[in-house]
Amino acid sequence: MASPDASRASSGAAPAIVLTGLRKEFPGNPPVVAVDGADLEIADGEFFSMLGPSGSGKTTVLRMIAGFEEPTAGSIELGGRDVTRAQPYDRDVNTVFQDYALFPHMSVLENVEYGLRVKKVGKAERRARAMEALEQVRLADLPARRPGALSGGQRQRVALARALVNRPKVLLLDEPLGALDLKLREQMQVELKAIQRDVGITFLFVTHDQEEALTLSDRIAVFNAGRIEQVGTAREVYEQPASGFVAGFVGTSNLLTGDVASAVLGRQGAFSIRPEKLTVAERGFGGDGLMRAPGTVVEVVYAGPVTRYVVGLDAGTRLIALQQNGSAAADTGFERGTAVDLLWHPDNVITVPTRTAH
Ligand code: ADP
Ligand code: MG
Repeated sequence: MASPDASRASSGAAPAIVLTGLRKEFPGNPPVVAVDGADLEIADGEFFSMLGPSGSGKTTVLRMIAGFEEPTAGSIELGGRDVTRAQPYDRDVNTVFQDYALFPHMSVLENVEYGLRVKKVGKAERRARAMEALEQVRLADLPARRPGALSGGQRQRVALARALVNRPKVLLLDEPLGALDLKLREQMQVELKAIQRDVGITFLFVTHDQEEALTLSDRIAVFNAGRIEQVGTAREVYEQPASGFVAGFVGTSNLLTGDVASAVLGRQGAFSIRPEKLTVAERGFGGDGLMRAPGTVVEVVYAGPVTRYVVGLDAGTRLIALQQNGSAAADTGFERGTAVDLLWHPDNVITVPTRTAH
C-alpha cells in the first residue's frame, strides 16, 4: 500500500487510485507511446479530471485503470490494492462512455437492472437498487419509459444510473457529455457535480474541454502527448500554469516572450496575462500603479456579456482582452483601427516556467 499523502489524506484511508510510472506502448513502426510514464494519486471521493487534447493519452489511462488494456510498465492501485494484472470484473470500477448504448427494447428500469440480472441478483433487490440508482440521477419518475422517448440528457442519466447501480468505489467517465449540445451539456455539468457530491464516490472524468474541467473538478491533470504536465486545482492550473502548454490549453495564454517580453515588461522570460485581466483604454488614459503597452485594435467581437478585443501591440505581438459589457469603462467600446493602451496590474503577470522540450 502506498504511504498516505499527508497533504490530502486526512482520514488515513488509502487513495482511491494510485498510478505509478504508468506507460502504454502500442505496437507499430515506430511504436506509439500513448502514455509515457504517468504518476497520479487520486483521493477517495474526489472529482478528478484528466484534461488534454485529442490523442494525449487520456482514454488509454482510463482503459488501463478499468483493465481493458494492459500497461507496458508501471502499476495501478485501487483503494490500496494492486490491480495492475487483475481482470476487469475483479476491479471495483465502472465506466460510462460517450456512446452509452442503451437497450432500446427495454424500459429505463430494465436497462438499469440489466447488469444486476447478469450477476444473478434476486428480483426484489434488483428492483430496489435500480430504483435507488434512478433516484440518484433524478429519474425515479420515468422507470417505464423506453430510451427512444427520452431526451439526450435523460439518456445520459440512465447510462450513469446503470453504472451507479453496481455501487463501484470509482466511476470512470470518458467524455460522457460529448454527444450533447452546449446548453444541455452545461446543464448536465451542474447535475453531474451534484450527483457526485450526493453519491460520494470517486469520479475520474476525461474531457478535452478546459471549461468543463475547470467547472467540475476538485483537481485536474493536464495531459500533453502522453505525459502529465501539471496536477492541481482549477485555480492552480489556470492562475499558475506549470508550462506554456498548460497556459495555452487551459484558457487563452496571451504569451509574451523574447524581445516582446523585454520591451513590454522589462524582463526576460515567458509570461502570460489572462484576457480578463487586461483593460483596453484610450491612449494615454491614466491608471495609477498599472502597467501599460500601446497598440491598435485589430478585431472586435461583441458577445453579449463581454466584448473580445484583439489588440496588436506596437512591440510586436497580439493580445486578447475581454471587457465586461455594462461596466462603466467598456460602455463606449473601441472600433477596429483605434490606437489604444492595454493596462494591467503587475500582480496579474504570470511567469510561465520554460522547460527543455522532451
Ligand atoms: P485521448 O483519449 O487523449 O484522445 P488516446 O488515449 O485515445 O487519447 O490515444 C493516445 C494515443 O494512442 C493516440 O496517438 C492514439 O492514436 C494511440 N492509440 C490509442 N489506442 C490505440 C490502439 N489500440 N492501437 C494503436 N494506437 C492507439
Ligand atoms: Mg479519448
